[in-house]
Amino acid sequence: MINLKDVGKQQAEFLKDAYTHKKIAHSYLFVDPMQKKGLATAYWLACLFNCNGENKPDGTCNECQRILTGNHPDVFLVDSNGKQSLSIDQVRPLKQELSKSPVEGTRRFFFIKNAEKLTLAANNALLNLLEEPVAPVVTILITTNENQILPTVRSRTQIISFENEKVDSQTGQLLEYGLTSDEIEELGNLDSLKQEVKYLYQELFEHNELAFVRAYHLAQNATSGKQKFVFYWLKNLSLEALRQNKSIQENTHLLDILMQIDKMYSSNVSFINCLDYLILNF
Ligand SMILES: [Zn+2]
Repeated sequence: MINLKDVGKQQAEFLKDAYTHKKIAHSYLFVDPMQKKGLATAYWLACLFNCNGENKPDGTCNECQRILTGNHPDVFLVDSNGKQSLSIDQVRPLKQELSKSPVEGTRRFFFIKNAEKLTLAANNALLNLLEEPVAPVVTILITTNENQILPTVRSRTQIISFENEKVDSQTGQLLEYGLTSDEIEELGNLDSLKQEVKYLYQELFEHNELAFVRAYHLAQNATSGKQKFVFYWLKNLSLEALRQNKSIQENTHLLDILMQIDKMYSSNVSFINCLDYLILNF
């Protein structure tokens, strides 16, 4: 369920102005490092077009409620659902829908979350959709990083930035390290996890066998976000030690192994196997 409280106020005002003057574009690129505001604003726009209430969009009328709960026949969301990429198979249904007229409202809405994950083939399929569409449709691509969107796609969209919403430096680093905004959000408080990773780091340096137990413990019920954070924080500890000129050789060695592990992990080697590899090779 989308909450209209998360809407970007400035951006919504801009869109409302365009709506009033009948100048809504047929494709937008919402750039939002956390995606939450961008996504909420996309749904807000769909509500604006369909709302039955007096203060459009009220978010409470039947139409708004159907949109916000994902039950409106004119509003489509494509989401990677945590996967590494958005394939052409996920874009194709939109192309089929494109030729149809709106079921109920005056316009259809296609939202693509994590648009930076679109594969090349999916991007190409999307290009037609972004060209002058035959049916009345508004396509909104939502992305964490504008630079990861193909220039051919970018140039066909109107870009609206949500980046003035400050992202704290750790969140920025985690996004850069490859965690998704959803993964970061579910991490919650990191103090105890950081402590646990620090123990693992120390046990590695002591060549203490307890490291295997620690790894096993860390792997228990670990979400993908937590797993990535463990590697991220090990690197962080190692880099911090290097900055203080501590155990230069060992820390450089550790960073080398962590880089190998990044590759292993992204080619689907399990988290616990990656940790075991680390302990055995350090
Ligand atoms: Zn409404």
